[in-house]
Amino acid sequence: MEDKIEPEDYRCQREAMVDRQILARGVKDPRVLEAMRKVPRHLFVPDAHRTRSYHDTPLPTAEGQTISQPYIVAWMTEMLRLKGDEVVLEVGAGSGYQAAILCLLARFVYTIERIGTLAESARRRLEGLGLTNFEVVVSDGTKGLPEHSPYQGIIVTAGAPRVPPLLVEQLADGGGRVLPAGPAPLRGLRVKEKKGARSLPTEEEPGFSVPLVGGMGWGGYGS
Ligand code: SAH
Repeated sequence: MEDKIEPEDYRCQREAMVDRQILARGVKDPRVLEAMRKVPRHLFVPDAHRTRSYHDTPLPTAEGQTISQPYIVAWMTEMLRLKGDEVVLEVGAGSGYQAAILCLLARFVYTIERIGTLAESARRRLEGLGLTNFEVVVSDGTKGLPEHSPYQGIIVTAGAPRVPPLLVEQLADGGGRVLPAGPAPLRGLRVKEKKGARSLPTEEEPGFSVPLVGGMGWGGYGS
């Protein structure tokens, strides 16, 4: 990622965000912490909310969607246990912030967004940061992206009624998936490894107000 000149104030706020919201709550992976210190979150937040970019909260973005709370981004990312050589699938590109973090930690990131205008602006933001190891795809992410599977990690950033089975099929053995599933407003963030040791139904997270809609999401066969 290119280092851009940015107001010192944002850099300080980002350091404080990592120390007080993320490290303090137990996220330990040094690569994740470094990525969270690097990516300029304020560039992913609309002007109207920019001053709150580093606050401990999700924020509204375009098209009635949200950018997740920083801690949740860090926690979900840590759960993927990325080493750097993985191909990762994200469902729900939204602003592109989570994808930017993933780009710093994995070999390649496919991120799916159902709303074309959001996908386009996410792509522009990621390119603007000099990132090249990603592709933003406009489609229904509940079906995954079979053509590039299997993925060593799958992360869904919108709440599904249940885990979409097509996503599980596209996960590599030993790969991790992390997603919020279950009824709103409290969706448990579920972490599971395919044919691996971990299955952690964890963290009740009220921040996931954005529903995963589509074939295997809300309003589709899955609900
Ligand atoms: N990861 C984002 C936050 C995403 S909010 C960020 O870092 O900003 C959830 C996003 O999921 C929304 O943009 C919404 O449009 C998208 N979404 C919901 N259902 C979807 C589906 N079936 N396929 C792809 N994207 C979906």
